[in-house]
Amino acid sequence: MGGYALTYAELDRDVNRLTAAFLGLGVRPGDRVAIMAENCVEFVVVAFAAMKAGAWFVPLNFRYGPAELAYVLRDITPRVVVAGTGYADAVEAALADPPGVPDRPAVVVLDERDRAGGDRLAYRDLLATDPGAEPVDLAEPGGIATVLYTSGTTGFPKGVLATHDATVRLLPVYAIEGDLRSGDVMLISMPLFHGGGLVIQLFPALAFGATVVLTGRGFSPDGVLRLIERERVTVTLWSPTMLAMILRDTDAARYDTTSLTKIWYGSSPIASTTLARARRAFPRAGFYQWYGTTEATTIAVLRPEDHDTRGDQTGREVFLVDARIVDAQGAEVPVGGTGEVVVSATGTCMAGYHNKPEATAATIRGGWLHTGDLAVRGTEGFFTVIDRISDVIISGGENIYPGEVEEALYSHPAVAEAAVFGVPDEVYGEAVAAAVVLLPGAQATPAELTAHVAERIARYKRPSKLLVLDRLPRNASGKVLKRTLRDDFVTSVKAGSA
Ligand code: ATP
Repeated sequence: MGGYALTYAELDRDVNRLTAAFLGLGVRPGDRVAIMAENCVEFVVVAFAAMKAGAWFVPLNFRYGPAELAYVLRDITPRVVVAGTGYADAVEAALADPPGVPDRPAVVVLDERDRAGGDRLAYRDLLATDPGAEPVDLAEPGGIATVLYTSGTTGFPKGVLATHDATVRLLPVYAIEGDLRSGDVMLISMPLFHGGGLVIQLFPALAFGATVVLTGRGFSPDGVLRLIERERVTVTLWSPTMLAMILRDTDAARYDTTSLTKIWYGSSPIASTTLARARRAFPRAGFYQWYGTTEATTIAVLRPEDHDTRGDQTGREVFLVDARIVDAQGAEVPVGGTGEVVVSATGTCMAGYHNKPEATAATIRGGWLHTGDLAVRGTEGFFTVIDRISDVIISGGENIYPGEVEEALYSHPAVAEAAVFGVPDEVYGEAVAAAVVLLPGAQATPAELTAHVAERIARYKRPSKLLVLDRLPRNASGKVLKRTLRDDFVTSVKAGSA
């Protein structure tokens, strides 16, 4: 793999030079500096330079299509957009998309080869800027540090505003609850435009003086295991999808992964079969489950010592966070009860959504940030996230939790991936539908799979429609886009093919 390395002193030097360059380009506190790039060292330099210039750092999803990119750029109106290799044309096209972004921002390219068109600036030239004797730092504690756009699994992306205060306050959580130490070598294979890459991994790793190893676009199970062996990686964060891919596509025993003592995972519910197999594949690693949202940041952790006794639970609230499971009236549900996860909106939560006061008011109510997740309250602060409220299927008046049906599907030996979602039904309001991907070479008919599910859970929860697909639609952080599955299903019904 290519790339280069920076020491902390070199990082500081480059950040100071780029901060001076940004100020020279007219960036002022409160302005926005955006980047669309895959994980790379320059991404890190841009992030800290933007923040030191007092600007809001806005990492953009490099998988955005033209419409989403144009929407986000119009929403955030940046002063500078940095484009990674191959993204400058898409950025320029999005900036020009009518009605366009007012006060056209400067476009900076990381790769000289992208300089070709127009008045693009080269990152390398900006790094030659003299930072002066006294490097500046215009970041204010209460000012906005980052804007992360939600990945849009439930609608158009919303810009989540995080202050410097909240960002810094969160850092000890990863040392105290995640056992992050300065001697750690952290592999970041989640995208840095997502909270999982930036907030949970990059910021804490750098705050505690760890070594950071970045992988670029795409996720290759063999590639990451090879890197773990070569760089003696000690800690990484994987989504359940990434873990499932590693278990499916490679043999961890072929690599020396003995340095990997901490496997952090999270971002969506994990199938119990995946977790059990992962623990067997990496017997020396402690497993840590993180639960959180872009808006609330990290909410809960399931530490290694809790995996044997509480492996079916999501975790308990982390240090400094006040999380509760409440009913529709806001009252805490009793142990064993089901309710929504809410988090005290002080401290580490978002300051609000950019330009969306109604959405902010709908999410932060009475001092509590509503996550939209349903959980069962356990003892001693532990709880189990069962599903997003918006994904719960109401069929004939009965609540059906997709996660329970997915677990039943995962227990079939031919199933590699499963997603369960509600589809409109004339009689029952909603019906249960499932999309399944089979393991390579495995065979199972929809009828066999539904029969397998019906043996394990109540009959009315069994999918009445089951599709076997080559792959599931997923967003950049690996989450299944159930809205896409539902929309595709409805379209195919209208077209008479389902
Ligand atoms: P959007 O907000 O646009 O729908 P998104 O939900 O993918 O996008 P994130 O903030 O990245 O955006 O995802 C947070 C959600 O991920 C949580 O609300 C929860 O549903 C799920 N999640 C995260 N970690 C876990 C976990 N450990 N177990 C179960 N679910 C999790």
